[in-house]
Amino acid sequence: THFGFETVPETEKAKRVYKVFENVAQKYDTMNDAMSLGVHRLWKDTLLHVMHPQPGVRLLDVAGGTGDISLRFLEYVCFQQERRKRRAARSMQAPSWQDISNNYSTEEEEDGPQESRAVVCDINKEMLRVGKQKADGLGISAGLSWVVGDAEELPFDDDQFDIYTIAFGIRNVTHIDQALQEALRVLKPGGRFMCLEFSKVTNPVLARLYDAYSFQMIPVLGEVIAGDWKSYQYLVESIRKFPDQEDFKGMIEDAGFYSVKYYNLTGGVVALHSGFKL
Ligand code: SAM
Repeated sequence: THFGFETVPETEKAKRVYKVFENVAQKYDTMNDAMSLGVHRLWKDTLLHVMHPQPGVRLLDVAGGTGDISLRFLEYVCFQQERRKRRAARSMQAPSWQDISNNYSTEEEEDGPQESRAVVCDINKEMLRVGKQKADGLGISAGLSWVVGDAEELPFDDDQFDIYTIAFGIRNVTHIDQALQEALRVLKPGGRFMCLEFSKVTNPVLARLYDAYSFQMIPVLGEVIAGDWKSYQYLVESIRKFPDQEDFKGMIEDAGFYSVKYYNLTGGVVALHSGFKL
């Protein structure tokens, strides 16, 4: 028993995780907003700001669930493209610029920069189904695909992606070292691994408040909103068991990534780890 919770044997873990996300899929986005008081949106936005993807980039979003990271990625890249176009249009309007740059080519702007792509990969069909419905509702389909797959055995060839993300997913994986090896394999040389995960709160006062909130409130919210106390009890338990910032950084380095860094968000409630494949 761990903090009064039932401890799940390793072999049972994958089955348990599948059941949890199958049960919560329909309510997953609502629960995320309720439990984090909307702050998960800021954590995900921060991931995108740090990533700062350029047009043409290929993203693999592992444990992508209902697609929040991939949808933000496509939105961010579109915004960048629009900004470039506007900037190019403005400079073309300036007479002095036109006078001196008759040979200036805006080929990239006219043809559109190389298309960006995001692949949402998740072990749970139900989460992907809900995500696809959400993307369809937002009218987003270009550049987005949904693939059922296990982080420990990704259904992709080597050296395929510029960026690999895993947001609030890696603590659910049974063999984290295996998932990290797979991340390294599918990234192109120079590619970046980025992980958002609950971590260790560094401020002792905040740590006490956070403990009280998560142990007492999260299963209650789970019961009230999703009618599922147990799944949310699992969530709190899995957060407690996950390695802290420094230990996880060591694991990413051991897998073979370089320049591994992390940023604490909300006082360490969440950490963003990043590393590169050479
Ligand atoms: N990334 C999304 C987000 O930030 O909203 C979803 C995160 S959700 C908390 C965790 C996801 O991890 C679930 O959709 C679950 O199905 C998925 N998952 C768990 N184990 C996995 C594995 N071994 N391989 C791929 N996905 C897995």
